[in-house]
Amino acid sequence: MKYTDLAYYNGKISPIREMQVPMLDRGCYFGDGIYEACLSFNGRMLGLDEHLDRCYNSMRLISIEPPMEKAEMKAKLIELVGLMESEVNFVYWQVTRGAGMRNHAFSGAETGASFWVMISPKTPTPIETVYKLITAEDKRFYYCNIKTLNLLPNVLYNQQAHDAGVGETVLHRNGRVTECSHSNISFLKDGVFKTAPLDNLILPGITRKHLIALCNQEGIPVVEEEYMLEELFEADEIIVSSSSNLCSNVSEIDGKPVGGKDPETLAKIRAAYRRKVKEDCGYDL
Ligand code: PLP
Repeated sequence: MKYTDLAYYNGKISPIREMQVPMLDRGCYFGDGIYEACLSFNGRMLGLDEHLDRCYNSMRLISIEPPMEKAEMKAKLIELVGLMESEVNFVYWQVTRGAGMRNHAFSGAETGASFWVMISPKTPTPIETVYKLITAEDKRFYYCNIKTLNLLPNVLYNQQAHDAGVGETVLHRNGRVTECSHSNISFLKDGVFKTAPLDNLILPGITRKHLIALCNQEGIPVVEEEYMLEELFEADEIIVSSSSNLCSNVSEIDGKPVGGKDPETLAKIRAAYRRKVKEDCGYDL
């Protein structure tokens, strides 16, 4: 049997809207868990091993005992993606700390970790997408390197972008750019690809990692250093990246025109990403 969309929870499979989960799952009331998301093309998930590595690292960072070995999780995800009708899918999974009566301390959790998956069809976002951005002070906590379910600030920042009719909100701490509500942000200046360093203020994006590898491959120098908002306004090109939006550039921030000054290097990076998707997943983006 093939599905148009699919949910999985601890061994149960159903269409997403039919899945019911126990109220006592700690994911429901504490957001006590971590997640991953990627795209699948022709049954192949882009960057799957890297997403699994980050998934197991996120669990380790918040002391969740994995519900299964990494290889078993990989096999299960491949099996579930294989049950989908559509060629391109958004694959989301999360691991929560299991179920138990509400108690902040988790040492008394009553079950092991829960494994949740949701897969739905996705129309791939064109790689040439152009974004407009707004800016906001980054008021999140200092666990931004962990892909936790606690995304309320990100949800609010994304809604702000939506309300402003733009694609993303770029966050900064006292002017130092961190990332966007659900993307990383990097820029090109004088032929150099610059991006914020990996610390606890940003998520170590898999797409950011791919972009760095592709720049290295294409002979584009990469600098991973803190940078300020002013540098974005002065950038030749700005790149917003995430698993569902691989390499968007930016035309405007807070209503001011930005970027558009190095279309050649941007096109080179996008061409390299297209080749990667073709090689890894057999798909023409
Ligand atoms: N930063 C945040 C806060 C995100 O939520 C995401 C993706 O969900 C990213 C960056 C990009 O990460 P990735 O490229 O792994 O999708």
